[in-house]
Amino acid sequence: MRTLLTILLVAATGMGLLFFGRRVLKGVEPRGTVPVLTPGPKPLELSPDSNPTPGVPEPASSAAADLRAEILDWNQQALDALDRGEILRAIELLQRCVEANPDDPVLARNLALARLRQAGLMIDSADLEERVAALELVENVLDALEGDERETVAARIERWRARADHEGSFFSSGNRRFELSYDGEQQGLRASETDLLDRLDKAYQEFGERLGAFPLEGKRLRVVLYSPEAFTRLTGLGHWAGGAFDGTIRVPIRTGGIDSRLDSVLRHELTHAFVARLGGGSTPAWLNEGLAQFLEERQVSSLRLKAAKLSCRGAPWPSLTSLGTNFSTLGDETAIRRAYAISLGFTAYLADNYGEELVLDLMRAGATGSSPEVVFRRQIGFDLGAAWEDMRQNWLQH
Ligand SMILES: [Zn+2]
Repeated sequence: MRTLLTILLVAATGMGLLFFGRRVLKGVEPRGTVPVLTPGPKPLELSPDSNPTPGVPEPASSAAADLRAEILDWNQQALDALDRGEILRAIELLQRCVEANPDDPVLARNLALARLRQAGLMIDSADLEERVAALELVENVLDALEGDERETVAARIERWRARADHEGSFFSSGNRRFELSYDGEQQGLRASETDLLDRLDKAYQEFGERLGAFPLEGKRLRVVLYSPEAFTRLTGLGHWAGGAFDGTIRVPIRTGGIDSRLDSVLRHELTHAFVARLGGGSTPAWLNEGLAQFLEERQVSSLRLKAAKLSCRGAPWPSLTSLGTNFSTLGDETAIRRAYAISLGFTAYLADNYGEELVLDLMRAGATGSSPEVVFRRQIGFDLGAAWEDMRQNWLQH
């Protein structure tokens, strides 16, 4: 039996915000509190007995039987197309199914979820028309959903709409790699536009050389600047957040607030964009956040590593597996802060002992259907867990 779990997962992770809680932009005070993370929607699941095979009525004639067989075949072809990532083809087939049998809730749901998945791919496009088309594509999808699933999807679409509304009057500029959007009325931003693009280009060039890939060629990346208030409202993240990446880089920026720390914010989020495009979509959170922090500066400073180590002193040591998924699921704010610190520490430890190239190979593992654990064992000859334990000993002793 096929399920639509894959598309649900993709749709859900498309909203998964990657963020970090330690850095703040000028004027964006952390208010003396640790971050409260807003979890993204959880992956949706089909109940075990849910079957995307349509409940076409029993045929009363051979013509009806033929149609029923045809619908089943189209539905199956659509699921196969989704597996291959051919979403537009799947939508076309499912549309045919729904037209032939408009009353079947399973077919309607399949079509709705396929549309949602396609919209998720378009909503972060640098092309405004494509973003508008994404919203049109999901106009009626809620009609075919129910219960928790409907609520989760409704919240996601609502956030997309709120952003589109807010950004409707934004200025846009850019170059062949980045599209920069911002409120043209916000003081200081227009004057800083060239400077911001310059910082992004420099970081992109450096990362491209270090990672041996330039993944933005042919597909520009959106970078949207918000006032801190709008950033909080539209991302659901608190004032502590330095930025977010959810397919688009989103950065809160205070009036006239471009300062030196902006570089590390942009570099952090740009790293997530590289990981999203090179990591095959399965990079564990510790590696994704570890690398993003590791690349915030050209070279991570020993002072920063010392601070990371100190922040973990006396705390229970998490398992590497527990740091594999979005840190917001850790729940406890202190644990989340430590998760960031340990991730940076472990990434730096691996780079220090085995070379930066090894860390990048771990990040790229998912793109070849492998995992960091497998790549580490193959290249280094023992388990990644042993390196994790070695770092723990090291952090405890020094
Ligand atoms: Zn991050």
